[in-house]
Amino acid sequence: MPLSKILVLAGDGIGPEIVAEAVKVLNALRAEGAIDVALEEGLVGGAAYDAAGDPLPEETLEAARVADAILLGAVGGPKWEPLPISKRPEKGLLGLRAGLGLFANLRPAILYPQLADASTLKPEVVSGLDIMIVRELTGGIYFGQPRGVETLPTGERRGFNTLVYTESEVERICRVAFEIAMKRSRRVCSVDKANVLECTELWREVATRTARDYPEIELSHLYVDNAAMQLVRAPKQFDVMVTTNMFGDILSDCAAMLTGSIGMLPSASLNASGQGMYEPIHGSAPDIAGRGVANPLATILSVAMMLRYSLGAPAAADRIEGAVSKVLDQGLRTADILSAGMSEVGTGEIGDAVVAAL
Ligand code: NAD
Repeated sequence: MPLSKILVLAGDGIGPEIVAEAVKVLNALRAEGAIDVALEEGLVGGAAYDAAGDPLPEETLEAARVADAILLGAVGGPKWEPLPISKRPEKGLLGLRAGLGLFANLRPAILYPQLADASTLKPEVVSGLDIMIVRELTGGIYFGQPRGVETLPTGERRGFNTLVYTESEVERICRVAFEIAMKRSRRVCSVDKANVLECTELWREVATRTARDYPEIELSHLYVDNAAMQLVRAPKQFDVMVTTNMFGDILSDCAAMLTGSIGMLPSASLNASGQGMYEPIHGSAPDIAGRGVANPLATILSVAMMLRYSLGAPAAADRIEGAVSKVLDQGLRTADILSAGMSEVGTGEIGDAVVAAL
């Protein structure tokens, strides 16, 4: 494996604590020669605003552009909420996504058998759950123009947004989903609202057309309302789901919560050249920041995704995922996933245990 450059952006709140544990794991693999990586640190979010007056300093964006992959903790917190939107920590995240063209958001929802009782659903409904949601991340209604709030001649205000997708945008996200499905059970469910929205009627047509290049893929379609219902009724029917930016935003949070453990779920956001940003799905958890109790496993599992999707090191990724499973087998738990009979440990102990289990 050639030397890969990783930009580490710890961010705010629990970000620095959880990222430190992920870096421990990277360094352990590097020390034994399993991976060849160079780490560089940068500022993003509230931390960047405090240091440089900007949640995404030009220096950080430039470092991100030349990195092979980015590891991000989380951004945000009450301290920065009074700031104008353009200066808020979340702008740093959106700026990275847009600046790097990270159009494909991969969000696995995996229920570790050791944590089956963490879900709010019955164990038999969720045990063995392993879904990959592929969400379009740089288009759709979150970016469409025109948008805004206008005042009508009557004095009443009218808010409007535009749902827009080009054929090429739909095709490229479907290809990402199909390629991932080829390495899994080869089933993809495309989620739209084709019965009401012309834009997603086109989405369905392009998904169907693109699937012809993947004869081994079994493609199905669901309307988003039905997909939401099916996710909580019988989630194990799904393998890979592919959908628009907004539908994916909502469905991936729903799927994540089926597993009951926000501190366990990683994510990847990829661009056309395979460069990616990897981060836990949770936020900066200001309520527990600085106490050494945050669960670092989502961030550690984000490193596994990074090795698999951007750095071409699937064996090292498998080892990290296996080590996390071993640590759960040992009964070690941070407070968020604690259950009867298990031992409560802190952020650093979990990181050390993963390194030992590698
Ligand atoms: P959150 O995900 O930070 O926290 C929700 C709850 O889950 C909290 O009780 C928190 O303590 C707990 N939690 C989250 N991660 C945990 C972990 N690793 N271990 C143990 N417990 C964990 O969501 P929120 O409270 O709505 O948002 C807090 C801040 O994070 C806000 O400023 C928000 O804008 C920001 N945020 C950032 C991102 C991101 O950086 N990608 C995502 C979501 C929210």
